Amino acid sequence: MNLKDTIFLKCPRCHEGDLFRGKAYSSHIIDMPKECEKCKQPFFLEPGFYYGAMYVSYGVNVAIGLTLFVIIWAILGFTQPYFMKAAFASMFGTIAFVPYTLRVSRSIWLGIFFKDKLTFYANIDEFDVAKKEEK
Ligand SMILES: [Zn+2]
Repeated sequence: MNLKDTIFLKCPRCHEGDLFRGKAYSSHIIDMPKECEKCKQPFFLEPGFYYGAMYVSYGVNVAIGLTLFVIIWAILGFTQPYFMKAAFASMFGTIAFVPYTLRVSRSIWLGIFFKDKLTFYANIDEFDVAKKEEK
């Protein structure tokens, strides 16, 4: 996993192709091409591949939320009356990041499975082993 690719949402294999189409803050939040436009690396490795990104997303949201909370509460002087205000402000701040968080989570999840210059082939057609053995 490469931190630069993860943050800038680039292909984990060639570091050039975009992982997503369009802008995060539009109707194309999770619009991913099937494969990298530069190196043809498939982005959907198997059915339901990105379910795992939900767990990553949880962690990223907690990290953003806690960071925002500490920053906001520090600005307000770490005093008791502002604790809940800082908590609510960080909650709304975290929600504002959701489209980007979603993309970064998928990027992290895909990056976990990659090493440089190694091609991972999509396993979609060969996925149903039981069905193949019946034939
Ligand atoms: Zn690529």
